[in-house]
Amino acid sequence: MVKGRFAPSPTGPLHFGSLIAAVASFLDAKSRQGAWLLRMEDLDTPRQVPGAADLILHTLEDYGFEWDGKVIYQSQRDDYYQAALETLISRGLVYPCGCSRKEIADSAVHGIDGLVYPGTCRHGLSGDKQARAWRVRVDDTPIRFTDGIQGPQSQVLARDIGDFVLKRADGLFAYQLAVVVDDELQGISHVVRGADLLDSTPRQIYLQHALSYSSPAYLHVPVAANAAGEKLSKQTLAQPLNGTDRTRDLWQVLHFLGQAPPVALQQENLSSVWQWAMLHWSVDQVPRQRSLTL
Ligand code: GLU
Repeated sequence: MVKGRFAPSPTGPLHFGSLIAAVASFLDAKSRQGAWLLRMEDLDTPRQVPGAADLILHTLEDYGFEWDGKVIYQSQRDDYYQAALETLISRGLVYPCGCSRKEIADSAVHGIDGLVYPGTCRHGLSGDKQARAWRVRVDDTPIRFTDGIQGPQSQVLARDIGDFVLKRADGLFAYQLAVVVDDELQGISHVVRGADLLDSTPRQIYLQHALSYSSPAYLHVPVAANAAGEKLSKQTLAQPLNGTDRTRDLWQVLHFLGQAPPVALQQENLSSVWQWAMLHWSVDQVPRQRSLTL
């Protein structure tokens, strides 16, 4: 059975950009009689906004989403992440790192997602260093996969990313580890999400191999950008969905995703738009672009 999921981070209310990922993952699973699960990615406690998780759930309900099973909260799942970390330690793939941000900044080169860790602690902590974070050792074998929307992808982790952090100096588990553990434990077969996460996928595939997990299929939908070309996000102060015209919002999302909803559908009610979407959903029509201007 197809199992998809939506995994919002409760750092603010749902906005149009996150509605796109919710709709795409929902239709991908539900149009094939699959299951659609919900996971709150509330690991990064310092960035959490109180009440945002409940607000997101209510907004999803108001738009007519129905999810299968209970919502899971990453903040309650440290034991699972710790167990996975220990597996990786026992396999010799993870090491403690004692470098400060400044030390890394002084000696590292830029990769595609920030600095490439120079490998200072790879062969053990030097005498004066205390373990701060835990990093996974990567190599230069290219990681290849074919994204269901964006096509063939390849990344060399050692060159493009470097040994990355799985558990931070403040004791929090990193997104890359948590997402891999949860996608496995929830039995997710299809990950449908915004293309801002396309470059994270090779790190996730690498961890899946290292943990002897299977890899789901990946589909990265374009992200919505504003006129200045910036991704709509809480950081760029995207407007929260105000709920004045949900039918039109859903229609807009379908239009954004290349589904060509008939204009007349805008006059119908929300459940008619959902019905239309469920019947007509076609991944092949989603634009093969990482971002699109609204
Ligand atoms: N929590 C992430 C976000 O809101 C999504 C993670 C994922 O879908 O893998 O951007």
